[in-house]
Amino acid sequence: MSGPVEAAEAPLTPDCGVAGPPVVEISPARIAEVGRVAVRRALPQRARRTVGAWCFADHFGPVEATEDQGFDIGPHPHMGLATVTWLFEGELVHRDSLGSEQPIRAGELNLMTAGHGISHSEQRTGRYRGDLAGIQLWLAQPEATRHGQAGFSHHADLPKLDLDGGTATVLVGSFAGSRSAAEFAWPTCGAELAVATGATDVPLDPAWEYALVVAGGRVEVGGQPVTPGVLGYVGTGREELRLNAAEPSRLMLLGGLPFGERVVMWWNFVARSTHELDAAYRSWLRDDERFGVVASELARIAAPAPYWVNGGAN
Ligand code: MN
Repeated sequence: MSGPVEAAEAPLTPDCGVAGPPVVEISPARIAEVGRVAVRRALPQRARRTVGAWCFADHFGPVEATEDQGFDIGPHPHMGLATVTWLFEGELVHRDSLGSEQPIRAGELNLMTAGHGISHSEQRTGRYRGDLAGIQLWLAQPEATRHGQAGFSHHADLPKLDLDGGTATVLVGSFAGSRSAAEFAWPTCGAELAVATGATDVPLDPAWEYALVVAGGRVEVGGQPVTPGVLGYVGTGREELRLNAAEPSRLMLLGGLPFGERVVMWWNFVARSTHELDAAYRSWLRDDERFGVVASELARIAAPAPYWVNGGAN
């Protein structure tokens, strides 16, 4: 499930946003219809490219899925990032160029590491009927691993813990002393929080930066509302974050050590230069061996023309 990144969201000469002390920075909501499906893109923002290593967050749905209609995404490539797929409702099947074929249900996690290159598809199971909703997240791989091999893992059993006023599921990395089996090569926190109406204190690592993406409901942080579609960036330097929920709410807590590398993103690629993006684009265009082949009957997704070619607007 992968919305491509547009030039306006990640221009090449950015103010990437500097990790800062406790702030509450609420981005404008960006809500689009992709086909029949509502997609809310919280990350990247022009002025906030990464939160820890998190560099992309698309919250999609709900959309009604049937045996022969859903939210199907044909084979497309990735490099330099890990995709984290998390469903709130429904089921999908993941297939990739490593030969993986993995059904995923709400409450389970798919973690796919692209490294130098991988391709994948996501589509209906052919059996499930009901609502489909979830969040597609990307983590930028650090220099140490981004040129390496691709990988895929599925995690059905994730740590759950009680908070005063809610519960948490640890998806990737660590949160509040619990660690997911889904590991990433940069200090990372990816957790889903379910909070009741009222106050919840969320323990944080003061050396890390964090942001909130609300999937359902409404919470306030420092008196500011965080609602579906926005990124609620809360910075570094906090031992604890107080959430005040106006109603029972579900949200993602995304964080980590501030990412020390400046990333360049275009379409489905995360890199450090347009030269690298260009090489990946040409490989996908040529259909050479870099991104492999996915055993899917869906059509391969064509890359748009890069904006840096022929004087395209940045
Ligand atoms: Mn994808």
